[in-house]
Formats: sequence, structure tokens, C-alpha cells
Amino acid sequence: MQTQTLIIGGGLSGLSLAARLSAEGRDFLLVEARERWGGRILSEQYQEGTFDLGPSWFWPGQPRISALVAHLGLKRFEQFCQGELLYEDERGHVQRGRGFASMQGSWRLQGGLAAVINKLLQKIPVDRRISATPINALRKTSDGVAAQTVAGTEIVAKKAVLALPPRVAAQFSYAPALPSGALTAMEGIPTWMAGQAKAIAVYDRPFWRDNGLSGDATSRIGPMVECHDASPAAGGPYAIFGFIGIPPDIRRDTEALHEQVRMQLVRLFGPEAKNPKRLHVKDWAFDPYTATYHDRKPLHAHPNYGLPSVLSGLWDETLVFGGSEVAPTFGGFLEGALEAAEYAYTVLKTGRGRSETRL
Ligand SMILES: Cc1cc2nc3c(=O)[nH]c(=O)nc-3n(C[C@H](O)[C@H](O)[C@H](O)COP(=O)(O)OP(=O)(O)OC[C@H]3O[C@@H](n4cnc5c(N)ncnc54)[C@H](O)[C@@H]3O)c2cc1C
Repeated sequence: MQTQTLIIGGGLSGLSLAARLSAEGRDFLLVEARERWGGRILSEQYQEGTFDLGPSWFWPGQPRISALVAHLGLKRFEQFCQGELLYEDERGHVQRGRGFASMQGSWRLQGGLAAVINKLLQKIPVDRRISATPINALRKTSDGVAAQTVAGTEIVAKKAVLALPPRVAAQFSYAPALPSGALTAMEGIPTWMAGQAKAIAVYDRPFWRDNGLSGDATSRIGPMVECHDASPAAGGPYAIFGFIGIPPDIRRDTEALHEQVRMQLVRLFGPEAKNPKRLHVKDWAFDPYTATYHDRKPLHAHPNYGLPSVLSGLWDETLVFGGSEVAPTFGGFLEGALEAAEYAYTVLKTGRGRSETRL
């Protein structure tokens, strides 16, 4: 197979770049490892509701994601925050009060964030995108790059955009070897939220709202350390989601984890929470197309993202980094995925990166 631009990774970054190249009638191929598209964006449908198991929010002050949502004809709504908050102390005692709802003013998307992915896919011809095809090796050629799929097929291109977490891309084999420091830099960039797991409990009724609660809760004992209402914009089914705070290596017993989540839901929200219609836990830390071993170490702050200068212009500008983690301003976020795709587009168009690479 041969193409001008090979985009590796069909998350928000790769898809938005592919849609842009497609609109301009350019020659490209988008290759995705998983059977599904969207990468860290993953929404599960249950009856009439769609529930986000990856990202849920975007925020005022993030221009690209807001513009994309509007351009695709999708509708945003505000995170539900009306009512009292809960706090569970280290002994499992639950207090309710009026405190600060941490996600007040955040936006969610009607139909879940997968709606963005589905709309972007419609803009990319089927013969320009291939799923279920992991890449595992890249080779520099005299005038570009050759990518090898796990199944052994070779895709030859003038440029390759790595629209995936740098840590995941560091696992490819490179011939010739990347310059010293490049692989170390790639491995050193933590993938935002990759070590996280999210639990979603779906119910017929929003009984917590009926009881004057917003669905917001924080806990010192877990397993969920931060919960929020995850219901659709209008109508049911309704849901609560929580970030799991137990470290990845000691939450691998899924059955036990489900049971602990159920028990905590009852401690927090009362006996009506005991039997969710659906309880889903998505553990990203063990998903090899998102996380590597290094992502199992918890992150305590948002890293300082951007493209390290050692990763700029690799292999005579044929390797272009494009995943959210290389975005200088909004790195790690959905907005960052679009910012990074914009950067990759500039490199493809001008042959040169911009000067805001860091270090
Ligand atoms: C639990 C969770 C909650 C989050 N919450 C938020 C939030 O509320 N707001 C926010 O802004 N951001 C949030 N994020 C971060 C957000 O999801 C990411 O910033 C964004 O989705 C990254 O998009 P991307 O295209 O750069 O990378 P990804 O979505 O990671 O896409 C990379 C793609 O590359 C593919 N790939 C990997 N390996 C290969 C290979 N060998 N060959 C081919 N393809 C490959 C992957 O399958 C994937 O589809 C959250 C993330 C998680 C996991």
C-alpha cells in the first residue's frame, strides 16, 4: 500500500486531521489498531442513554473543541450540579453539604463524546481508513517512511503522523534507531488519564436528585474517589460515574471491584443505589493501545506537555507527532488532540514545525 500521508491512530487527533485532509482532497491513509474508532473517547449505549467511559467534559476557553462541536451540528449541555455534595471520610462516614461542585460549568455532549467520532468518520471515505490494524514498526526510506502492520503488510508513505500517545509509539521498532534521547523523551511523556479507571452505574430513576443530591461525591476510602452525575441531557436512564482511586495493580480482580463499587454506591447514595441496571468499569491502565506499564504510576498533577525539541523534525521531517500529549497549550485534553492535529497539519503543509516546541 502506498500513500502520501499515513496517519497512525484513529482517536480524536487522527480523525480530525484525516477529515481535514479529506476535505482538501489530499492523499492519505488513516490506520487504527483497535476495531473501534475514537481511542480514549469511548461511549457506551444503554437503552436511550449514552455514557462516557473515557472523557466526559470540555470547558469554556477551549476554542477548537467548541468550534468542532458546533461545526458538526452537535449540542453541548452543562454538567448537572444542582443539589448537595457528599464527602466520605476514612471511616466510611458520609456527610452531606453545600461545598464546591468541582465540575460546575463544565460542558458535556448530547449523545456522548462518541457523537464527535461518528460525525468525523462520516467525513472520511471508507477506503481511506483501516481499523483493526496495529502498526508495530517504522522504517526510514530514501524519500519517506514505511510502516509495518502486525499482520506483516507494509504501508509506504512520504510522511507518517504519530497521532497516538508518544509512550505507545515508543514501543514500535524503528530502523534506523531514533537519535539518542528521542525514545527516552517519548517514554517520559505520561499519557493523560491512561492510568485511570472509570465506573458507571446506570439506573431507571435519578433517586439522588430526588433526594436533593447533585451526584457529586468525594471519598477518602474509595474505591471511587470522585463521583459525578453522568445522566443524559434530558430523560433517562440516569447514571453516576466515579473515578477509581485504587492503584491499577491492586484493582485487577474485576468481580471484587464491582462489588466494592456497589457497596460504596449504597454508602453514598442509599439503598436505592444497590442494584444498578448496568454497572460498567473501564480500566484504561490495562488497555495496551492507550497505556503502557509506566502509566500505572499515579499522576498527581497535570504534566507540562508539548513537543520536546528532540522529537521535532525526526527522519528529515518524515515523522510528525500529532497526539494530544504533544500539544503545547492544552496537552492531554480533547482540545489538545485538536491542537496537536493542527500542528501536524502545519508540518505537512509547510514541511516545518512551528517554533513553540519546548526545551
Ligand atoms: C478516563 C479518561 C477521562 C478523560 N477525561 C477527559 C475530559 O473529561 N476532558 C478532556 O479534555 N480529556 C479527557 N481525557 C483525555 C482525552 O481523552 C484525550 O486527550 C484525547 O482523547 C486524546 O486523543 P488522541 O487522538 O490524541 O489520542 P487517543 O485517543 O489515545 O488516540 C490514539 C489512537 O491510536 C491508536 N493506536 C495505539 N497504538 C496503535 C498502533 N500500534 N497502531 C495503530 N493505532 C494505534 C489507539 O487505538 C487510539 O485510537 C480523558 C481520558 C481518559 C482515559
